[in-house]
Amino acid sequence: MAEPNIELPQSDIPTRSPSATTADDTITPFEVAPLDLRGRVVRLGAGLNDILNGHDYPSAVSRLLGEAIVLTVMLGSALKIEGRLILQTQADGPVRMLVVDFTAPDQVRACARFDKKRVEEAVAAGKADPGALLGNGHLAMTIDQGPDMNRYQGLVALTGEGLEAAAHEYFLRSEQIPTRVRLAVAEEFIAAEGGPRRNWRAGGIMAQFLPHAPERMKVADLPPGDAPEGVVPHAVAEDEAWVEGRALMETVEDIELLDPAVSSERLLYRLFHERGVRVFKPVAVKAKCSCSRENVESMLKSFSQDDRDHMVEDGKITVTCEFCSASYQFAPAEVGAKAN
Ligand SMILES: [Zn+2]
Repeated sequence: MAEPNIELPQSDIPTRSPSATTADDTITPFEVAPLDLRGRVVRLGAGLNDILNGHDYPSAVSRLLGEAIVLTVMLGSALKIEGRLILQTQADGPVRMLVVDFTAPDQVRACARFDKKRVEEAVAAGKADPGALLGNGHLAMTIDQGPDMNRYQGLVALTGEGLEAAAHEYFLRSEQIPTRVRLAVAEEFIAAEGGPRRNWRAGGIMAQFLPHAPERMKVADLPPGDAPEGVVPHAVAEDEAWVEGRALMETVEDIELLDPAVSSERLLYRLFHERGVRVFKPVAVKAKCSCSRENVESMLKSFSQDDRDHMVEDGKITVTCEFCSASYQFAPAEVGAKAN
């Protein structure tokens, strides 16, 4: 299995004049060299709105999907070359499945499958936090770097905790990189013609401990796993730089990730100015679906004759994209199906 191709920030020109307000739909890489920390800050506005308002899911589901989008954008933007990162959850909670698909360098699309009644019940019972909505199951992270490259897939169990916890576990188990992630999503209603309009904002920050000497990356909170019963795992002293970096990450508040008046640069300066932080040029991200008539056509042609024949309704085959709701119609003959 190939290791994912994670790009470290290049010695790009650091931005010298931090903007006062945030630039939405951006990914800002940073480095705190004295602490061997590298990471990214993601801020999402209009792009997130396009995806979430396009689906019109219940608020609790949109919020959860928003977190998954921030996480996927943060991870996907580290892909070195053209490729895709797909985050997918499959679990027994009211939200059965989340899919977020990031195509390098800058496109993201997302959708969810959920049980409407169970979501309503969870909201009514005050049990609609991300962990409860997901329930138990697994989260898969698939990195696809094109037909000539191996697909890489990392799996982590979902155990009733949210996506931040799942991300920490994923990095610890799949990549052995000490990582801290913070995700925040908020919904606001703004006055507009024809009544208030729903507006979504989201933000996230990720920091990874990447020292030159790998033995410094040992962390204390790795569970003993399949150690034989009675074997006490020996305590590992965590590296001081990581202890400090992690503690700083834990001070990040939701409002700092969401407030348009707090730019990514300001947030990073607030967190790390005592150690010295290099902030790299932000990159843009946009909400865009990658579906096309050609792709849908070749998918249909890959189905069995029987399946294709069964898809004909009122003399045509209609396929609706689950990500962007685009509708594609085909005459049966176009995709080799029998007209009924
Ligand atoms: Zn689409």
